[in-house]
Amino acid sequence: MIKWRLVSIKASELLMGIAFRFARRFLLDKMMNFGASTARFADYFKGFENVEAIKEIFGEKTGEILRHLTVKFTWVRSYMWVNPKDGHLTVSTYYLNNGDRLDIYLDVIHELTHVKQFMDGKELFDMHYDYVDRPTEVEAYRHVVKEARRLGLSDERICEHLKTEWLSDNDLKRLARTLNVKCEEQAHALQRQV
Ligand SMILES: [Zn+2]
Repeated sequence: MIKWRLVSIKASELLMGIAFRFARRFLLDKMMNFGASTARFADYFKGFENVEAIKEIFGEKTGEILRHLTVKFTWVRSYMWVNPKDGHLTVSTYYLNNGDRLDIYLDVIHELTHVKQFMDGKELFDMHYDYVDRPTEVEAYRHVVKEARRLGLSDERICEHLKTEWLSDNDLKRLARTLNVKCEEQAHALQRQV
């Protein structure tokens, strides 16, 4: 009897744990999308169908894909990301209103690469890799760097774009090395500030 009770307690604890984890993920998703407005990408991001870098991502179907792409605008104070469940792009209105135009433009190229990867059935957040080594991220950053070079941006400015809160100095150096961008001075500057 006791044995069975223990088993059932353990089983119910396990179930509660699963339910809690599910609820947490569900709630987080709900919260991130709470109050978000949904629109068509092409209605707000005009002219992107003519950008060479984006045509390189989607090929001849660029216009059609961008016309059908769903974009959500969220109050969450972040940048932008692609939902790995539905492939929709979510953009922070705070970032759109306050971010640097060039960074926003390069981020759009980065995220549209993820949209294409989602369409191709790739796993966007493969946790077997560190962020800076993940093939989906490296591919997205390669598109960004190529466009940045086409625009004539310096290594310093590209490096500034690559610097985000979630990258350590070492991660930044590794990513920059992979992308052939010189970030040594910036990383050094970061270290000096610390
Ligand atoms: Zn990414």
